[in-house]
Amino acid sequence: MKNQKIDSHGAPSTPLVKSNSRFVKKYVAIISLIVTLLITIIFWGFSYRHSSMVREHLTHEAQAFFNEIVQTRQWIIRQDGVYVKKKPGMRIDPYLTGIPGLKTSITDEEGETYLLHNHAAITKMISAMATEERLFGINITSLDPLNPLNEPDAFEHAALIDFEKGEKEVHRFVETPNGLLFRYMAPLPARKECLKCHGVQGYELGDIRGGITISIPADQVADEVNKTRIILLASGLFLLGLLLSVIIYLARRLVSVIDEDERKLVKLATSDPLTGLFNRREGNRRFKELISHSSRAKLPLSIIIIDIDLFKQVNDNFGHQSGDEAIRTVATTMQAALRDYDVLSRYGGEEFLVVLPTTELAKALETAERLRRVIEAVVIRIRNHQKIGLTISAGVASLREDDTLDSLLYRADNALYIAKEEGRNQVQHLEKKL
Ligand code: GH3
Ligand code: MG
Ligand code: MG
Repeated sequence: MKNQKIDSHGAPSTPLVKSNSRFVKKYVAIISLIVTLLITIIFWGFSYRHSSMVREHLTHEAQAFFNEIVQTRQWIIRQDGVYVKKKPGMRIDPYLTGIPGLKTSITDEEGETYLLHNHAAITKMISAMATEERLFGINITSLDPLNPLNEPDAFEHAALIDFEKGEKEVHRFVETPNGLLFRYMAPLPARKECLKCHGVQGYELGDIRGGITISIPADQVADEVNKTRIILLASGLFLLGLLLSVIIYLARRLVSVIDEDERKLVKLATSDPLTGLFNRREGNRRFKELISHSSRAKLPLSIIIIDIDLFKQVNDNFGHQSGDEAIRTVATTMQAALRDYDVLSRYGGEEFLVVLPTTELAKALETAERLRRVIEAVVIRIRNHQKIGLTISAGVASLREDDTLDSLLYRADNALYIAKEEGRNQVQHLEKKL
């Protein structure tokens, strides 16, 4: 018995209903997984959208710079270059010397010298100024540059090859020693006026003769993107935690409500409403379990069938309701006199069955006798503060090797019959030896 699960009624018993918690846990796990996935997807989507919006914004900015530069260059080409007041260190552009009809330098009547600058030189000057002010960088390159200083770097080289394959623009974040840059590059197709100088390189109208790179410092933007990512991550985790807590809380409430309802249902199905004892069906179920356990474990087991003596008279003399009161008092008195793991059930109207696990005949007779004496001694209060006394008769039987539930009950029933025959208020048994 020690290894067996003993419930509050003292019987080893398999529960009639399994707890719902495992069932609910499974669904809570599935729902939690779905919620986690959804929130991850939503917040990842937000984060991705934000990064691509930042990239789109930088691309538009770079496109605007690019178009501005192209327009400026176009304008300078149309003017056949512009004259810039000579500053210290400024030299005549070697790429312009020798072109027929071009005056590379002029001097005004006050003696001030102006040097001719073509679109490439002006672009370089604007680029140097923009870089100095850390606004953006401009670089004009070609796979076949006239000026060897305009050789493309790795990013530009790859982009120029892509342009030759038909790509319209290329952009990428590039880590440099001076920080993160957003680099944008678009091609420069050869126009009619370009061929004046670049025609010597074999370019034809529409050929991609190079490209302009716009480099925008992106450290600040990257910081913003990271900050937004952290905020999104924190909000996502907070929302996830909140939702999971609510799901778990509701699931727990649900389990406890269902468990409570089921406990009530089980109680209704297994107990006798008048006495609160096990009803006959539950008594029999536990009786069967105990018999099979005792037979397997070769443990003794005894039963007592009890019937209240001359009970009809109680009903006849005091009414049915008083009879009910009396049955209730007998039941609670006997329950209090038994061990925790003895199983007492209301077997019929005023009949009770006690199953005594691990109990030999002698001990069972002692128990039956104890019950007989406590009932004999108890004062039963019925309606109108009246007090009555009752006695019980008991038949005891102990489990034999070849016993079934019915054969054991049969012997106990016969013993009870003898107890009644012999004058009631006594314990009888039909077993051979003690
Ligand atoms: P005996 O000593 O031979 O057992 O005599 P008895 O009068 O007790 O006879 P028996 O056991 O055959 O009758 C039991 C009576 O108990 C019959 C019925 O009226 C009454 N009874 C059965 N169940 C209930 C119940 O739930 N409430 C009440 N008040 N009476 C019940
Ligand atoms: Mg009876
Ligand atoms: Mg009776």
